[in-house]
Amino acid sequence: MSTHEAQASPAKNLFPHQTPATGSSEELKDGMTKLPNGVILDKDGKPCRLCTSAASWRNLTKQAKAQGSTSTTPTTTSKPTSDSTTTSIPLPQSRDDCPPDVEALGRSTWTFLHSLSASYPVKASQEQQSEMRTFLKIFSRLYPCWVCADDFRNWMAEPSGRNEPRLSGRADFGTWMCEAHNEVNRKLGKKEFDCRFWEERWRTGWKNGRCD
Ligand SMILES: Cc1cc2nc3c(=O)[nH]c(=O)nc-3n(C[C@H](O)[C@H](O)[C@H](O)COP(=O)(O)OP(=O)(O)OC[C@H]3O[C@@H](n4cnc5c(N)ncnc54)[C@H](O)[C@@H]3O)c2cc1C
Repeated sequence: MSTHEAQASPAKNLFPHQTPATGSSEELKDGMTKLPNGVILDKDGKPCRLCTSAASWRNLTKQAKAQGSTSTTPTTTSKPTSDSTTTSIPLPQSRDDCPPDVEALGRSTWTFLHSLSASYPVKASQEQQSEMRTFLKIFSRLYPCWVCADDFRNWMAEPSGRNEPRLSGRADFGTWMCEAHNEVNRKLGKKEFDCRFWEERWRTGWKNGRCD
């Protein structure tokens, strides 16, 4: 386990980096801080906004404000003075111009990744396959939600080799990407997508014409 994971004291669940969705707040080893549920720490030990849902982030901000912090970036040395599930800060009408949370980042990235497979050649050359393999390798290291990146990288590197990118052509790659997305869906307890329809969702539009 890395130093950063030790600091975050992650729960042993399907999503090993993430604190449980329910239950008490997380207490850090130094005894200084209780973080609201769902808040993920970055590798420097500070809360990672890109790894955390907007709701958990608001609870963290509220906690920092409650103790009179003037910082806009809550730190892990904050001591909570109230329970994180009580009153919430009113939300602005539109939050399109705020930094993304883990979900907004994820939605945008899946749009990009599925579009990448939708525009992939029907039959890819060796060079195209090699470029995509390199991209996925780098992507899985640099994705800004580091806990997501770690899990994605580990999934791709599953020892049997069954999750290695399938890059021979669009159909294979699109289905592989759909399976990769479903892996995250499962981990988050979301409904799986039927991969027979990935191309209608991301390339051609639905057969009933509602995307035309
Ligand atoms: C590589 C990666 C790893 C991630 N890991 C985590 C993580 O560990 N923890 C975390 O909290 N969040 C993670 N996320 C974000 C998470 O996957 C979601 O993007 C986020 O929770 C928002 O979910 P959503 O329900 O709005 O829809 P999303 O899951 O973002 O999906 C967007 C749209 O894609 C379509 N879709 C859904 N599933 C599939 C599929 N299998 N194939 C094709 N299309 C599909 C649906 O139309 C859906 O509306 C990750 C994102 C990425 C890109």
